[in-house]
Parts: sequence; structure tokens; C-alpha cells
Amino acid sequence: MSNDPTGMNELHWLIDMVQTIEVGLVVLDRQFNIQLWNGFMENHSGVSPNSIKGKNLFKEFPELPSEWLTQKMESVFMLKNRAFISWEQRPYIFKFKNYRPITGRADHMYQNITLLPLASLTGQITHISVIIYDVTDTVVNNQQIKAANEQLEHLSQTDGLTQLNNRRHWQICMQREYDRHERYDSNASLIMLDIDHFKRINDQYGHVAGDKVIQHIAHLVGQSVRETDCAGRYGGEEFSVVLSDTSAQEALFFAERLRKKVAKSSIVFEGKAINCTISLGICDLANKPENSSSWVSKTDLALYKAKQDGRNRTETYDPNANYDQVADKAE
Ligand code: GH3
Ligand code: MG
Ligand code: MG
Repeated sequence: MSNDPTGMNELHWLIDMVQTIEVGLVVLDRQFNIQLWNGFMENHSGVSPNSIKGKNLFKEFPELPSEWLTQKMESVFMLKNRAFISWEQRPYIFKFKNYRPITGRADHMYQNITLLPLASLTGQITHISVIIYDVTDTVVNNQQIKAANEQLEHLSQTDGLTQLNNRRHWQICMQREYDRHERYDSNASLIMLDIDHFKRINDQYGHVAGDKVIQHIAHLVGQSVRETDCAGRYGGEEFSVVLSDTSAQEALFFAERLRKKVAKSSIVFEGKAINCTISLGICDLANKPENSSSWVSKTDLALYKAKQDGRNRTETYDPNANYDQVADKAE
């Protein structure tokens, strides 16, 4: 300090730093006239400090949310407290283009803003400082991470071959439906379906053709369900559907429509038409299965019965039937 008794050097340095810092700095007086406009603001707005000094912020930038921002600033003047505006509240205040190459995906700069009351020597708040932080990199990174997480979540729930729910996620949906029933006594139907004589298709046309058949059936299943239903690939060539608020009788309509659709359709593979059929089992929650796995077992019994009775058919679980024989066969 001894060789700068007046402090002029310090002031000079401060002004240099204010001009070059990678943060926007604006000072406004009580009428929102611009008193300071640093290099960052000049670079991004194209307006020089000299040409804007003394001019009213809202007149110079009519696109600013003036009513909202004035209210914020007035409360800073009144309460003598700083205020923050996060990009989540408003992505930006000043519409600046985003020039950064790595964040090329955002076309405008995301901004966090601090409004800082500036006191005069007598302690009165005569000015306000607007500090603008460019948070585009952070926001874009966050958005990319969020998108990647959503994609991962989707992948972890989806069967790769059919794009239906995988077994694990389907079980969660089914359990949720069962829990809903326990709480509210709602009804729902479970349908298990299995492709008939699928081994023959594999043997005759090969596994690639078999996969195409599985995809085709999955497509028809997916097409038939409502938004509130949950269809999944339970195993190899076996599918499961939970139909919300649906009795077994209503589910039978759904099942039969699907069965006929499958029987009518054919898959063309390497010039050859492949036909197949499916068998289906139904059980609704009016049968009061004691837990969700018993719901699946009862539905399975109905499916085995459909297989035993000749395939290409739908069976509804009958609490009075004797399933000993089909259960033995199912082992
Ligand atoms: P059923 O009418 O009694 O159901 O006769 P099925 O021949 O279909 O008998 P089952 O359901 O026991 O056989 C299923 C076969 O499906 C056995 C397995 O080799 C085949 N498989 C399981 N997963 C896949 C798969 O992802 N792709 C192909 N191509 N075949 C599969
Ligand atoms: Mg089968
Ligand atoms: Mg099977």
C-alpha cells in the first residue's frame, strides 16, 4: 500500500476485474436506470457501457419480464435484503444467445441471478446490483444426466425382444394392482397366455423365425391393452396381462378377441407364412387369491387347462373345478 497511498491502483484493478469477469454485473439506480454495465453484459448483448449508461433498463430491454422483475427489485430496495432468481424459476432474465461450443444444444444462456442492495455511505439503499451467472453448462449436463437416467429406467423395465414390460417390472405392476385390491376391494383380471406348439415353430423354421413370431404376438398384445393395463413378457413365449377394473367375464372378451386376432394373422418369414395360435388362462380378484403369487398360480392352472383341452382356447379359473390333473401335468 505504501507506494499507492491514494488507493488508486486498487480501484483501477477492481474496475479491470469487473470489466473482464465472466459474470454479468449491472448496477441500477432507484428508477432502474443503468449505472454500470460490465464487459460480460457488453459481450453478450452487443450493447456498450457508454451507449447504455443512464438509460432505463426496461426501456432498453422491452422483452424483460418488467412487472415481475420490478416487484422483485422493489422488495430488495424495501427490505434491504438480497434476492435470488434461479434458472429453475425462470430459465433466463436477459435473452442471451449461448455461444459455448460444448453446450451447443441450448440455444440461450441459462442464468442464475442475484439482486444485491447497494448502500450509500449514509446506509440508504440507493442502488441495486444485478449479478448474472451463466449456468448453461450445469443445466445442460443435468438435462443430459436426467435423459440418460430416464433411458436407463426404461431399459431396466423393458424386454429387449418385444419392448413389452420385462418380467421383473411386470411383477411390480401386478403386485401394485393386487395391493390396490386389498386396500379398496377393486377388481382386476390376470391373463396368462402361451404360444401353442412353439417348439415346432422353432424346429421347423429356426429360432430367428421363432423370435419374429414372439415379436409379432407381443405386438398384438401391446396393441390390445389400455393405458391402465400392464402387459409383460413373462418368459420365453409366455405373456401376462393385468387388466385393471376388469372382471373375468370382461377379460374373456379381451382374451377371445386377442386369440382370434392371433389365429387369423400370419408372419411372413423368408417368403414362408407362419401361422400360430395361443392359449389363454384368466383369473380375476373376485376369486380372492390369498396373495399375488397365488393369483398367478390360479391363472396358470386355467392356462394349463386350456392347453389340455386342445389349445387355441381361453379358460377362466373356476374355483369349483378340480385342477389336480392339470397341476400334475404342469409340473
Ligand atoms: P405348448 O403348446 O404346450 O405350449 O407347446 P410348446 O412347444 O410351446 O411348449 P413350451 O411352451 O414348453 O415350449 C416353449 C419353447 O419356446 C421352448 C424354448 O425352446 C422356446 N423359446 C423360449 N424362449 C424363446 C425365445 O426367446 N426365442 C425362441 N425362438 N424360442 C424360445
Ligand atoms: Mg408354448
Ligand atoms: Mg411356454
